[in-house]
Amino acid sequence: MRLSRYFLPVQKETPAEAEIASHRLMLRAGMIRQASAGIYSWLPLGYKVLKKIEAIVHEEQQAAGAIPVLMPTIQSADLWRQSGRYDDYGAEMLRITDRGEREMLYGPTNEEQITEIAGFGIRSYRDLPRILYHIQWKFRDEVRPRFGVMRGREFLMKDAYSFDIDREGARRSYNRMFVSYLRTFERMGMKAIPMRADSGPIGGDMTHEFLILAETGESAVFLDRDLADLTLGDAAIDWEDADALQAIVDRYTASYARTDDTHEAAVFEKEVPEERRLTARGIEAGHIFYFGTKYSKPLNATVTTPDGTNVPFESGSYGIGVSRLPGAIIEASHDDRGIVWPEAVAPFEVAVINLRQGDAAADGACEDLHGKLTAAGLDVLYDDRDERAGAKFATIDLIGIPWKVVVGPRGLKEGVVELVSRRTGETETLTPDAAINRLAALYGRA
Ligand code: ATP
Ligand code: MG
Repeated sequence: MRLSRYFLPVQKETPAEAEIASHRLMLRAGMIRQASAGIYSWLPLGYKVLKKIEAIVHEEQQAAGAIPVLMPTIQSADLWRQSGRYDDYGAEMLRITDRGEREMLYGPTNEEQITEIAGFGIRSYRDLPRILYHIQWKFRDEVRPRFGVMRGREFLMKDAYSFDIDREGARRSYNRMFVSYLRTFERMGMKAIPMRADSGPIGGDMTHEFLILAETGESAVFLDRDLADLTLGDAAIDWEDADALQAIVDRYTASYARTDDTHEAAVFEKEVPEERRLTARGIEAGHIFYFGTKYSKPLNATVTTPDGTNVPFESGSYGIGVSRLPGAIIEASHDDRGIVWPEAVAPFEVAVINLRQGDAAADGACEDLHGKLTAAGLDVLYDDRDERAGAKFATIDLIGIPWKVVVGPRGLKEGVVELVSRRTGETETLTPDAAINRLAALYGRA
């Protein structure tokens, strides 16, 4: 992509309305534009990041056995009356009346809808377990939309729902999603730590929130420092091995990790030695919980057991704040020059910077690099604007591109360009071809 032909409305000024770094940087980098309170348009750069995040979520959901569907944003109030939530949900729900005076709503979540679908489509215990999910826009009329996409009113969520015959089955589905979340966030270059959440009237231990540590997070978190160092790495997961999944969940839940909702100071002090006690703030990136027959019972969604009786599904729901994640990732990964994207979710993987636009040698070398990097399967942004070098660096660093190939007439005389890492600032001087090979290898496209 040539920057001279792209749509990248970067802003020099710091927007006054933005209170936290990610909101400021998303506006300044031209990623989003507010349409109305808590509602945003995703501009090209932001949209690319959102799509990359979505793609990782899709891949990891399906790897864990979840099946994609797509339910509508607009739902009928009738279903919500059956579950009793139409009145319970209160002012956060956007209620709509159609021309026939039918009561509708813009879905804040989809438990009722998916339970109706599962009740229709799943008859027998032989058809279980199943996990269905979609990535769809939600609307919640939050009292205080703020921090840009982090707490929007319209926001994109991945929500999965599991269907099992009994609680043991539900635990296996829960564990699948738990491990899938570990992988999902790790692939995005993030550390999202599972913390015990409030189980409310359902009770039990099957509810966790996944929090990304960041100073501006809305939740206070208390955890054993050792948890922050756990990683899955490239370990292959056998999704059919329930014991192996349980072992991973046990490893991640063995130590104390809670948010302010569930924190108990006395337990924290008893279980965690002082030098390992970490008190910090976190952003909720995902939430998984088991809710049993809360929706299947009132909606009469049942399945036949081996002995021929009908029982309501045992279910859980599993959310990821897809449109919150760009903000959360930026909170965890930026510096005073701008965003520092992890490679897996960067809008462009490499920027080619032409230090002297109009110089025949520099233009030629940049064209060549742009073409060859693209052919190698890399997502390239070529800064071909007629701008000073300083302005080009400022833009590319603001928007957080992980790697820069810097091309100028002086280096080209020696046959070299510079490869610069956004994260470390480390610079390597090498031939254009070596730079291409390095980048292709780095991104696994070699
Ligand atoms: P919160 O406590 O932040 O309001 P929640 O408990 O209401 O979250 P869930 O209903 O579990 O959230 O939704 C699943 C995920 O959707 C959350 O973990 C979060 O990442 C995301 N999310 C929830 N509300 C919003 C919002 N207003 N804007 C953006 N993302 C949101
Ligand atoms: Mg909420």
